[in-house]
Amino acid sequence: MAHNAKERTASSDVWVFTEIQDHERVLEGALELLTIGRELADSLGGRLCALVFALDAGQYLPVVKKYGPDVIFCASDRALKHYDSAIFPDMIEKLIRAHNPSVMLFPSTEAGTDLAPRLAQRFATGLTSHCTGLSVMDSDEHGKGLLVMKRPAYSGNAIATVICPHARPQMATVQQGVFDKKESAGRTVTVETVPFDCNLSEPRITHLENPTRWDKPRVPLEQAGVVVAGGRGLGARKHFDALFDLAEALGGEVGATRVPVFNKWCGEERMIGQTGKTIRPRLYLGFGVSGQIQHTASIVDSGIIVSINNDRSAPINDISDYVVTDDARDFLARLIERLRKETRPV
Ligand SMILES: Cc1cc2nc3c(=O)[nH]c(=O)nc-3n(C[C@H](O)[C@H](O)[C@H](O)COP(=O)(O)OP(=O)(O)OC[C@H]3O[C@@H](n4cnc5c(N)ncnc54)[C@H](O)[C@@H]3O)c2cc1C
Repeated sequence: MAHNAKERTASSDVWVFTEIQDHERVLEGALELLTIGRELADSLGGRLCALVFALDAGQYLPVVKKYGPDVIFCASDRALKHYDSAIFPDMIEKLIRAHNPSVMLFPSTEAGTDLAPRLAQRFATGLTSHCTGLSVMDSDEHGKGLLVMKRPAYSGNAIATVICPHARPQMATVQQGVFDKKESAGRTVTVETVPFDCNLSEPRITHLENPTRWDKPRVPLEQAGVVVAGGRGLGARKHFDALFDLAEALGGEVGATRVPVFNKWCGEERMIGQTGKTIRPRLYLGFGVSGQIQHTASIVDSGIIVSINNDRSAPINDISDYVVTDDARDFLARLIERLRKETRPV
């Protein structure tokens, strides 16, 4: 049953679900959330608290501590190796009831976007997904300490400002790459061990298959220095596949508009845009990409943008540093051939 959080008095604390990626490293997006979370906690006069749940949470603490938390809630168990919707929400719900945070931030990952709505429902509170701006309201018009959440609306044609005046915690998910990460040294950090508390006698998930390189980038797109993106203009999977050869030659990663993802030419992890990743590579090359706002809003901070499109008036050309008006498939094949020749030993 949902209990309305209005009845409980919230602290001014800001919590960040500090997700562990592939049980190997702290997710970059979580470090970005700790960075913005630090600013919010300072504005609210509260503490920044990181939630680290993992097989062995202790190994991630040195990294997490660099990003300014006052408190780290840390739980370790083999059942926490992979995110599990039968375990994480229950354990975090208990913590929330005990500590009453004001704000909770989650990365917009599979785990974050599963966990956040489950918790929001249990506390009958609001959740704003895929936020692109977070701040604390200056005025007292709607009460003190309100989180101001901004996110694109109407297919990116408007920016919605969302507040959650009554219920707590105020919850938001944020995609990786939206905020910068910045270390914040010199704090005293308290580590609170959270006992593993779950009715399951055995972990339900013991092994997760690694997707093929086609499905999942080796380097997260948000961190790639070069992104070679393909759109509908490539016409078919076999032409899209050639992007992987180019990415390899350039030491980059393959990205896509929504069309190749929907056509199953590549996996969802490669989608760039409003419902995908926000990227800032040194170099972005778009092959047969028209440049609709849902895509371009997430590439505008790239260093150099190159468009390869057979339509001279394609909207992406307006934000491109270099425009190639040509057949994307022919140009791609010629470019790969040229790069191979140039790197061939003599
Ligand atoms: C709520 C919502 C969310 C969305 N989220 C996203 C998102 O996250 N990411 C995303 O990308 N889209 C998203 N979209 C979809 C978006 O609006 C566009 O439909 C999509 O980005 C278009 O993809 P595209 O450029 O590959 O295809 P198109 O717009 O069809 O463009 C294809 C381009 O290829 C060119 N072309 C055709 N043949 C050739 C050729 N032989 N050689 C060279 N060029 C050629 C054409 O001139 C054209 O410019 C979203 C839409 C909605 C409504």
